[in-house]
Amino acid sequence: MLAEVSGALPAEPVAVEKGLGRVLARDVVSAEDVPGWDNSAMDGYAVRASDTAGATTDSPATLKPAGESRAGAPAGESLGAGEAFGISTGAVVPEGADAVVRVEDTTADGDEISVRVEVEPGRDIRRAGEDIRVGDTVLKAGSILGAAELGVLASIGVSEPECARRPTVAIVSTGDELLAPSEPMRPGGVRNSNALTLPALARLAGAEVVSVERCPDDPEATRAAAERATEADIAVFCGGVSVGDHDHVKDAFSEAGAEERFWGVALRPGKPTWFGTVDGGGLAFGLPGNPVSAVVTFILFVRPALRALQGATTDLDVVEAILADDVPRMERRDQAVRCGLTATSQGWLATPTGPQGSHILTSMLGADALAVIHAGTEPARAGAKIEAELL
Ligand code: AMP
Ligand code: MG
Repeated sequence: MLAEVSGALPAEPVAVEKGLGRVLARDVVSAEDVPGWDNSAMDGYAVRASDTAGATTDSPATLKPAGESRAGAPAGESLGAGEAFGISTGAVVPEGADAVVRVEDTTADGDEISVRVEVEPGRDIRRAGEDIRVGDTVLKAGSILGAAELGVLASIGVSEPECARRPTVAIVSTGDELLAPSEPMRPGGVRNSNALTLPALARLAGAEVVSVERCPDDPEATRAAAERATEADIAVFCGGVSVGDHDHVKDAFSEAGAEERFWGVALRPGKPTWFGTVDGGGLAFGLPGNPVSAVVTFILFVRPALRALQGATTDLDVVEAILADDVPRMERRDQAVRCGLTATSQGWLATPTGPQGSHILTSMLGADALAVIHAGTEPARAGAKIEAELL
């Protein structure tokens, strides 16, 4: 499926204030030193270290207050021998000074500052460029912008990082039975939970959700919905993709010009998953309708596609964990078992959340990861090492 993603979408400048979750299209090289200047780590006095030689509580050094350097307002003049400049945390160390004495080691008395400690050159000075130097590559293309990345971009004066355009996603739930949360229940009605879970997952993976539609189990309506949805970078249908008489999604996708790449995966939940490509680089997914199947297949198939379209790495979310309970294997299908993760001295412990039916959406509550239990005959035993895909 990832081989069908022809690369990241084009880059665009993004206001850093709106950058949360976006993916960098290029490496970011700093044009500024951080910190920009030698500055004080403490509130106190900028001094010449040699002027404090031998200073103790009993025999303090006496310096003359001769200026001030405040955060944002450096001292205008340089510091001379025998002088002390008041300095605040983060303020520029004045020329002529080579150390800072903390305010708690001093007493100010009129036009005298008594210094009770000897300081060596460099004491409580943070050096220019200690964090980042001009020319450093601070962030790599493909990085997802989180709080730390945004802060670092701001700290080097990048106001509009180049990010991949966000993939557009159109979501269609199919089924005559579906009801919005606000509609009155009727016999045989099923609440359309996928219309909430799938857009949420898409947004969390950086997508721009352009439409969320509901479509009846009717060939013509499904075809028309497929025509609209395949305009987006990714069209996601849920339900109607299996072998029932009322499952029209595969035909609708073909009629809308999507070419089948696969139908059916050796996975529980998720067996009838369908994937196709659309001329011009679009991707089309037919996910099973059961609420857990839709969520699981979105996470395992659509989310990596969304990441790839943004140029981000696609294996970000896999951790190794230890299985807490025995899980029977299926002979021919891998299973994605919803698990809570807890930290132990041996690493992550993955505990299944309870009944794992594909209609039991509450099995997603409290789940941190999908434990991947490979096909086989012997049960996966408690204590076995497994891979878990973080939610
Ligand atoms: P289908 O894949 O269309 O055969 O649907 C399988 C099961 O999932 C049925 O019980 C459907 O009622 C249910 N289902 C289908 N779509 C949704 C949806 N959008 N939200 C909640 N349940 C759904
Ligand atoms: Mg259906």
